Amino acid sequence: MRFETTAIHSGGGPCPATGAIVTPIYQTSTFVFEDVGKTRGYDYSRTSNPTRKALEDTIAALEGGRAGSAFATGMAAETTVMHLLKQGDHVISQEDLYGGTYRLFENVMKNFGLEFTFVSMDNKAEIEAAIKPNTRMIWMETISNPLLNIVDVEMVAGVAKKHGLITVADNTLPSPYLLRPIEYGIDLVVHSTTKYLNGHCDVVGGAVVAVDDKLAERVKFLSNAMGTSASPFDCWLVLRGIKTLPVRMTQHCQSATAIASFLEKHPGVKRVFYPGLKSHPHYKIAKKQMKGYSGMVSFEIVGGARAVKSFLRRVKIFSLAESLGGVDSLVEHPATMSHASMPESFRKKVGITDSLIRLSIGLENIDDLKEDLKQALEHA
Ligand SMILES: *Cc1c(COP(=O)(O)O)cnc(C)c1O
Repeated sequence: MRFETTAIHSGGGPCPATGAIVTPIYQTSTFVFEDVGKTRGYDYSRTSNPTRKALEDTIAALEGGRAGSAFATGMAAETTVMHLLKQGDHVISQEDLYGGTYRLFENVMKNFGLEFTFVSMDNKAEIEAAIKPNTRMIWMETISNPLLNIVDVEMVAGVAKKHGLITVADNTLPSPYLLRPIEYGIDLVVHSTTKYLNGHCDVVGGAVVAVDDKLAERVKFLSNAMGTSASPFDCWLVLRGIKTLPVRMTQHCQSATAIASFLEKHPGVKRVFYPGLKSHPHYKIAKKQMKGYSGMVSFEIVGGARAVKSFLRRVKIFSLAESLGGVDSLVEHPATMSHASMPESFRKKVGITDSLIRLSIGLENIDDLKEDLKQALEHA
């Protein structure tokens, strides 16, 4: 089956008991044993649940991995993956990454004796120079948030293989429709399903897909042991969202491309970050490994803090909110919102300036979106 068909038909098919075409929400904590020591495949919903399994199988199929696990949030998925490691292990992480991930590494996992080195993931020499005897893992974002840098996943996977390191790719921004990191040699794919996979701004969730059974089993063990798994209802919502992922992504990409070109020509805009623009430093690698450039556009506004505030107050269709990847267009200010948990000095080093604004292009009419940005920029 091709991608669009898999998105709709994987996950077990119609309910064998009733014929319901949609996977039911198995809203139950526990499952009755058939006999002493004999279940029907399920015993307790923290461990596993049929609605969750349908979602896990679907995401695994879309990513081309062996098996998946679904989590309560993207951060629950990431926290669980970090527990593959033990005290004293060293992780090489991309420096330009989601603020919550940075906070998890710096302010939580470090307290448990993990070490981190943050590098620019487009620099092979810098990655290799960071490898130490206790290095176990390389962590990357396939499209980084909020600067939309693109990681050459094949290059990073190659470095990791040479040194026996586990690679983890946060594939939230492209979604598997645009990029499948496992095909390029990545071991674990992480998602915040809150974003494009669900796509409707009505759930928080996470997922992990593993390249082989051994890693998948270990993630499942940790999910059960730590209790980080997703609820049946949330899984059902994400499953519903995934059915339209290909058509939504196609439109997100098309509208974001139009917005990026519009902003690039606007005198009120200093610089546009969009991997589909020829001016983007990673345009070539983006074009090579992705089917599209996703629906996120970041830009630096002319006029400093006053212009930022004025712009954020004046947009009408774009809502001032964190998150991304849904049908609603959103706007946010990374320095004070999504990336406020990063210290200012680190933000500066990475390139997240105070005049950076991040847009998540939704599925509203493109002319309405352009007009909204235009009027807000004119007054900024
Ligand atoms: C939102 C996000 C996360 C965290 O996911 P939650 O569902 O909010 O816990 C992780 N990585 C990226 C790239 C994100 O955008």
